[in-house]
Amino acid sequence: MNSLDDITNPLPSDCGSPAIMAGPCSAESRRQMLDTARALAEGGINIFRAGVWKPRTLPGGFEGVGLPGLDWLADVKAATGMATATEVATPAHVKAAAASGVDILWIGARTSANPFAVQEVADALAGLSNPPAIIVKNPVSPDINLWIGAMQRIREAGITRLGAVHRGFTTYGENLYRNTPHWAIPFELRRRLPGLTLLCDPSHIAGRRDLVEQVARKAMAMHFDGLIVECHCCPDEALSDAAQQLTPAQLIEMIKSLPASNRAMPDTELEAMRLQIDRIDESLLETLARRMQLTDEIGRYKQLHSLSAVQPQRYRSMIETRTRFGTDLGLNPDFLRVILSAIHEESVRRQVEICCKND
Ligand code: PEP
Ligand code: MN
Repeated sequence: MNSLDDITNPLPSDCGSPAIMAGPCSAESRRQMLDTARALAEGGINIFRAGVWKPRTLPGGFEGVGLPGLDWLADVKAATGMATATEVATPAHVKAAAASGVDILWIGARTSANPFAVQEVADALAGLSNPPAIIVKNPVSPDINLWIGAMQRIREAGITRLGAVHRGFTTYGENLYRNTPHWAIPFELRRRLPGLTLLCDPSHIAGRRDLVEQVARKAMAMHFDGLIVECHCCPDEALSDAAQQLTPAQLIEMIKSLPASNRAMPDTELEAMRLQIDRIDESLLETLARRMQLTDEIGRYKQLHSLSAVQPQRYRSMIETRTRFGTDLGLNPDFLRVILSAIHEESVRRQVEICCKND
């Protein structure tokens, strides 16, 4: 038994499959909120999101409009009948959002990584007579226990309408996604908590609007219950996360092409292991791509300093040291020689191309 065994769906009962929550990254103006919400409501979407307080990684960005945004959320509800959702990170946020009738509060990735902050939010929720539903985004680091711990704190505050959101994890260096998804983690979460409502936020995973759909598809294939998608009536003019927001029309088109969510559990153990393999392969390829970028940089340097692309003693020492390193990790030396030579050959090919192009 753990304290999350009795949680229930935090979303309105009529939100369909997959459930869709959509709306701008940030509340910017009453007009922006209403224009976006009306277009979404016409497309059948009935949960509206907008960040009123925005946690920004660096100071100086748009930090949200604050309290007026809550009035605009209430206007959206009055005009469209949509349920509303916003992010909270402090007791003052919780009290103000609950007092203005917001239906669902989410705890963001930077907050769910901090047990002190989550406890303060939980304490504020415990003091409410009719608390909103809560959804907890994964913490920025891939730590399943930190994520579960955040949900337990909220549950212990008396909240039962509680769900989780996978929005990807922070990784160092350049990657395809803004926040790398680790599908094995929400998958394990569902295995441990079969009753949990699990949503995916493809917008914050993708970071680019052209990648949102493929992430949403993956989430549906992974049996998520629904999606949170950032949508703006004029995405290019958005004050935050402009690159990843869709227009309402783009979202509605995307939803039509998605398969319905199916809560049936696949073969969990096998699926979990395959997901880990998928992630490892992706990170192998990302690392390989980074290596090739560095190779190109070295190629340009060699060309500038009239050095030859192929330097045999470097090749020999590379193969030797890597083979030793890999053998110590339990890899077969013949296999190591094949892949290391292939990597080296491709690096040389790229450098020769660079030298020839610039000659
Ligand atoms: C958001 O949903 O606007 C947001 C800031 O999300 P996250 O906490 O996932 O970065
Ligand atoms: Mn955002």
